[in-house]
Amino acid sequence: MSEPSSADADPAGAVDRRVFLAGLAGYGLTFAGGAGAAVSLSRRRPRGSRLIAGLRQAVRGPVIEPGQSGFLAAAHVYNERFDDVLPLAVARPLDAADVRSAVRWAAAHDVPPRARSGGHSYAGYSTLAGGIVLDLRYLSQVGFDRRAGIATLGGGAQLIDVYAGLAAHGVTIPAGSCPSVGVAGHALGGGMGLAGRALGLTTDNLFAAELATADGRLQRVDRHSDPELLWALRGAGGGNFGVVTELEFHAHRLPRACAWFSVAWPWASAGDALDAWQHWAPHAREQLTSVFHLETGAERPRVLVAGQYLGPAGELARLLEPLAGAGPATVRAGDQDYFDLQVRWAGPACSAQSLQGCHTVGTRPGGTLPRESFRAKSDYVSRPLSPTGRELLVAAVAARQGQPGSGSILFDSYGGAINRVAPDATAFVHREALFCIQYLDYGGGPSWLRGVHAAMRGHVSGMAYQNYIDPELGDWQHAYYGANYPRLLAIRRRVDPDHRFNFPQAIGR
Ligand SMILES: Cc1cc2nc3c(=O)[nH]c(=O)nc-3n(C[C@H](O)[C@H](O)[C@H](O)COP(=O)(O)OP(=O)(O)OC[C@H]3O[C@@H](n4cnc5c(N)ncnc54)[C@H](O)[C@@H]3O)c2cc1C
Repeated sequence: MSEPSSADADPAGAVDRRVFLAGLAGYGLTFAGGAGAAVSLSRRRPRGSRLIAGLRQAVRGPVIEPGQSGFLAAAHVYNERFDDVLPLAVARPLDAADVRSAVRWAAAHDVPPRARSGGHSYAGYSTLAGGIVLDLRYLSQVGFDRRAGIATLGGGAQLIDVYAGLAAHGVTIPAGSCPSVGVAGHALGGGMGLAGRALGLTTDNLFAAELATADGRLQRVDRHSDPELLWALRGAGGGNFGVVTELEFHAHRLPRACAWFSVAWPWASAGDALDAWQHWAPHAREQLTSVFHLETGAERPRVLVAGQYLGPAGELARLLEPLAGAGPATVRAGDQDYFDLQVRWAGPACSAQSLQGCHTVGTRPGGTLPRESFRAKSDYVSRPLSPTGRELLVAAVAARQGQPGSGSILFDSYGGAINRVAPDATAFVHREALFCIQYLDYGGGPSWLRGVHAAMRGHVSGMAYQNYIDPELGDWQHAYYGANYPRLLAIRRRVDPDHRFNFPQAIGR
């Protein structure tokens, strides 16, 4: 566990303006007019503040409320689009017992709680208005039991720290590439990364979790104590059943050899490149996982594949051959140590700095990665896309080129270890997909994203990835969980009958 530090304070040392004004209103201080106008000041404390004083008694870790220095930085999630959503307070419990105290307090006072691990929910579901955020940043331990081969991770650990902490023991778990994603939110909704086809999803390696439940208990959930709840946590655990304070994973030895590669084509080959990729990537050797990109660029759109191979780069020329017929390609590849490779995927800002800087600004002392403002949607594809489907996607990115902001369509290859798990073996149902499509828009408003997503309806499976959670999705119960939904509903009713853990796309809404 890392102790509270100066990162808890507002970096500017100033009270945020919006909160300052809201705080004045709460104290009955009103401005009657322009400069020099009369003000009235009552001594009445707002109800919210009295309530939060009780939370402060209940929790040992810091509790930050509106009007306090650093409140806005504490309230904000990664996606800046939700900066106006402000909770009653942000509590930062020090350990699992402290989380349980906060959950008990929330139940006793009928205040809705929301767990936050890395704060990367696409829909901002780790914050809320009118409730309390339980920010797990101090539950960030990364432990490894060598004899048992088990990694034990705190509910607030971020992926870059997980990769670094486990690499020091010569092991790893498969997970995504964004360094500051929280391992809890990630694993509880799936967790797809560039070791996915070889080692499975993050959630496939999860075998036990410690959970603070609505009844005020702290319980270790495993296949003996509560197999149904463990089943539910593996794919549907994000925000639904309680607050996960610790996760236990089967760890994998670091691969002896490891390589990265990229293949880029001229834009005119985009449709053919996508066709070659979709027939190759989900069936390639399992040690190889790749992501296909169609994206706007500085002057023209770009098409490329980037990937990771758990083997020597010298073998890649033969493995990448099926992509050769799609047009004139530029291929780059190289050997790299596994951990250094994870830093490479984390982005250039990370490779160039110490690991301290490789965290979102404000979430860890020294974190430098900026927050972002974006929208996203997703689809799964279980049969190869037709020429019409491919043309739609290529045309959509071409149309987005030159507009404000940027747009991209990313394709995560499935198959391999991911698809060897049965759809009902865990709550993560998407086991028959060839790949997952993710549509992303930065700074362009909602219309392009909605348009391309709507245009693809006849070409995709109708399922969507719950970790790319989309607040606009209609039948999300089916899209995220398919035939597993009724079983999830029964588990939610048993574990949280009063639906204390709730959000707009919670099981049971
Ligand atoms: C820049 C970026 C890159 C990404 N890259 C990938 C990728 O490569 N692969 C991939 O699969 N996904 C990726 N994602 C998606 C990511 O996996 C999800 O957004 C994930 O839910 C984020 O988890 P978090 O803990 O950071 O988010 P949070 O916002 O903290 O949490 C997400 C949800 O889980 C709940 N939750 C959080 N902690 C707990 C807990 N301890 N117990 C119970 N519920 C909890 C929250 O209440 C919320 O509903 C990416 C997201 C972003 C923004």
